[in-house]
Amino acid sequence: MPNGWETVIGLEIHAQLSTASKIFCGCSTRFGDEPNSNTCPVCLGLPGALPVLNRRAVELGARAALALGLRINNVSIFSRKNYFYPDLPKGYQISQYDQPFSAAGVLEIMTALRDEAGHTREWQPKTIHITRLHLEEDAGKNVHEGLPDVDRFSYIDLNRAGTPLAEIVTEPEFRSSWEAYDYVNHVRRALQWVGASDADMEKGNLRCEANVSVRRVGDETFGTKVELKNLNSVRFMQRAIEFEVERHIKVLESGGRLVQETRLWDDRVGETRVMRSKEEAQEYRYFPEPDLPPLLVSDEYIAAIRDSMPELPEARRQRFSAQYGLSFNDASQLTSERSLADYYERAVAVSGDPRGAANWIRSELLRELEANGLEASASPVSPDELGALVGLINEGKISGKQAKDVLVEMFKTGKGAAAVVAEQGLVQVSDTGEIDRLIDEVLSANPGQLESYRSGKETLFGFFVGQVMKASQGKANPKVVNERLKAKLMK
Ligand SMILES: [Zn+2]
Repeated sequence: MPNGWETVIGLEIHAQLSTASKIFCGCSTRFGDEPNSNTCPVCLGLPGALPVLNRRAVELGARAALALGLRINNVSIFSRKNYFYPDLPKGYQISQYDQPFSAAGVLEIMTALRDEAGHTREWQPKTIHITRLHLEEDAGKNVHEGLPDVDRFSYIDLNRAGTPLAEIVTEPEFRSSWEAYDYVNHVRRALQWVGASDADMEKGNLRCEANVSVRRVGDETFGTKVELKNLNSVRFMQRAIEFEVERHIKVLESGGRLVQETRLWDDRVGETRVMRSKEEAQEYRYFPEPDLPPLLVSDEYIAAIRDSMPELPEARRQRFSAQYGLSFNDASQLTSERSLADYYERAVAVSGDPRGAANWIRSELLRELEANGLEASASPVSPDELGALVGLINEGKISGKQAKDVLVEMFKTGKGAAAVVAEQGLVQVSDTGEIDRLIDEVLSANPGQLESYRSGKETLFGFFVGQVMKASQGKANPKVVNERLKAKLMK
């Protein structure tokens, strides 16, 4: 970021709410079905068909709103947003306009200062104001690929038409592409955490648009903004914003003028390009949807939803640090998914060792899970058995090195820790007599090194430890080896 410039970014997220049926009819929302098979007169917009609001969509919208710190309005109004596009059969979208479902959100996120290469340097909290979260229906999809004569024809699949969405709009308060990146990740995790949305950008059930402008530091007014679309991953969004900021500054510093327009990110070339200029902007002629009554939500209803919510990810991260003494990074990773956080707490309860459980999950277990594309909830090693494994290490029954192999075997076979240890005949040698014998062997086999050590080359200590461990075939307790070796070498 060149000196003297400030970036201003506002974000709009569309998240598909995880209902089984659409927002105003009973059609299935299942992904990947035969095109146009999940449709009916309501979502096809046939004359005379009337919408009926899906109660579950309201419930999930409420969970999303509360998870993001929004206030839910007791009365909200559905409105028609009028525009023409082939994937919108009614010629309007049922959305919300001047009386949205929820508003005035205050959300604290963690955002990192990063170096040029994007490496995290330091995390700090930032408060984001969310203007509104409203409910609306999705449009269908134009299909331009994988069908005959796509060079001449467009195809339309209306299975998605009428799928419930939460649109989440922030104030323009992000000051860098990375803040936007951290916010979107925060929202994704929160929505998944409370079961409101799968929030999977690759499947398109979380979509993101960014409004980007720059201004001179100290300016009160906003610069000309550009709307970015086609941001199919959080990383694409970050790169698109970064590209746009640089482009704006270059244009302005060379005395040029920016045009308000919508641009698409093309990741193959790493550039944005113009989709449409704002002169072609739509006038949506919103008016209240005459076929739906106002949506009334009582305080009791909101309180009941609030009571049914799990402890939220950010609160849980803070509690993990306070209660278990975990670092910010450890606590963040262990609360990246709700099932992982549950797994960790169960393993702590069994092992009584918060640090040990954290280390084994973060290093060994997550590697196995990732390699197999599994979430913690589907781990072949249960949290009870991981806790048992940590217990065996702490009791000195097996070494850390042995435990790594035991965990791999547990993961492969689904067997318990004690069972694998017994099967493989793994016993850690902590017997000092046995270890002393190995040390004597090693010292007499390496007279040269012993001589050097005694004449001051103390770095050879590690060499001796290694030789003793090797002589024990990895079974010696390293702590005992260290103690006994020190004692012997002092003589
Ligand atoms: Zn339908």
